[in-house]
Amino acid sequence: MSLKLYNTLSRKKEEFISLNEKRVGMYVCGPTVYNFFHIGNARPFLIFEVLRRYLRYKKYEVVYVTNFTDIDDKVINKAKEMGISYDKVADKFIREYFQDADFLNIGRADHYPRATEHIPDIIRFIEQLQEKGFTYEVEGDVFYDVSKFKDYGKLSKQSIDEIQSGARIEIDERKKNPYDFVLWKRAKEGEPKWDSPWGPGRPGWHIECSAMSSKYLGETFDIHAGGEDLIFPHHENEIAQSEAVSGKTFARYWLHNGYLKIDNKKMSKSLGNILTIRELSQKYDGSVIRHFLLSAHYRSPLNYSIEQIEQSKNSMETLNNLIYNLKFLSERKLPSKEIDIDSNKLNETIDKMKNRFIEAMDDDFNTPVALSTLFLLAKETNIYLNKTGYKNQDTIERIIRFYEDFGAHILGLKFSSILANQESLPGKEIEDLIDARETARKNRDWETADQLRVKLLNMGIVIEDTKEGVRWKKS
Ligand SMILES: [Zn+2]
Repeated sequence: MSLKLYNTLSRKKEEFISLNEKRVGMYVCGPTVYNFFHIGNARPFLIFEVLRRYLRYKKYEVVYVTNFTDIDDKVINKAKEMGISYDKVADKFIREYFQDADFLNIGRADHYPRATEHIPDIIRFIEQLQEKGFTYEVEGDVFYDVSKFKDYGKLSKQSIDEIQSGARIEIDERKKNPYDFVLWKRAKEGEPKWDSPWGPGRPGWHIECSAMSSKYLGETFDIHAGGEDLIFPHHENEIAQSEAVSGKTFARYWLHNGYLKIDNKKMSKSLGNILTIRELSQKYDGSVIRHFLLSAHYRSPLNYSIEQIEQSKNSMETLNNLIYNLKFLSERKLPSKEIDIDSNKLNETIDKMKNRFIEAMDDDFNTPVALSTLFLLAKETNIYLNKTGYKNQDTIERIIRFYEDFGAHILGLKFSSILANQESLPGKEIEDLIDARETARKNRDWETADQLRVKLLNMGIVIEDTKEGVRWKKS
């Protein structure tokens, strides 16, 4: 089966064919590092990394690049506000980025280029544009002359007239055309600066992605992704820069995720509804937030509300409990010789869910459908587990493997939270109490057994008696 991806460039789902057989180059626009990232920023970081996980599952070798914009007005303003240098601000928020990304179980990229560490590459890129006649210089600022690039607007599918009316364009009277954009900015008094052929200054935002993506992935690479707010002007400008220099296609598949809203409102400073991952991490497990972000198709808008995130919390609890039960059973080493009707039926469901998962992911990585297979299988498995009688070890292990392969490796969900708590818990005292209760039960001393159960409950331990023995978990 082949993977299809919706390409913003063609506005169509296209079969994904990589440039170099099994090697895929992927670039995802990263954060401007002046603040903690919020749940809207998290969406592309997380979702496109799931695509990488899936490509790896399909045996592609993926080179994944995410940049850090570590110099711009926001970083400079933050530095003033905090009374430290701009690079200290960037260092701090890169550290914070990794903390939150790890919390969400976003796999690490292969490269995290920082703009300020690539100034010579960026200058060289601007020089090439200059040599080819795509730039003009005004008072130490270098602009890109959009009228020189005939395909301008091909990604956002707008003619230059339409662009002029709708977009957020920086007004600057020195520009020949309002949609021209800055490649090199002359340094103002007291601002960080680097030497260049146009005098001291710093790079514009768009140029850093063109220069750094080609450095790590080549002039033409497979997938370029980001939030849909980046289509114009950022990605349009990246194409204009890169294709002007190379004369070749820049990125072959352009992927964009939809907006995230909070209680159906746009997230904004003025509404005071910016929800950072750091804030959310006080209340919710990383996998709960992950479940929420995967619960909608990446191109659809997604609305955050307490009800939605609580639903994700419940969903993850369902899976955690199921996997806890499955592991408990599989450790008991059940018989696996015979396959009875129920085990057989469940095996068929596993196969069906595997196929459905892969079909969904192949169809423009439809994570909500892929996610739903985890719950459909959970439902069938719980019915199986709740029936009395024979349980097949191989079947139980196959189900566990399904959750490991698809839930954990591809979707990046961690099911270990409950198990980890379990493992860290059994203090000597708790074990003794559980044993004492067992002894009391064997002696049919129900009163003592019940007192001990309540005592354990007060310590936050829930006791369950099953056919296979006593189990306990954190309440
Ligand atoms: Zn970018």
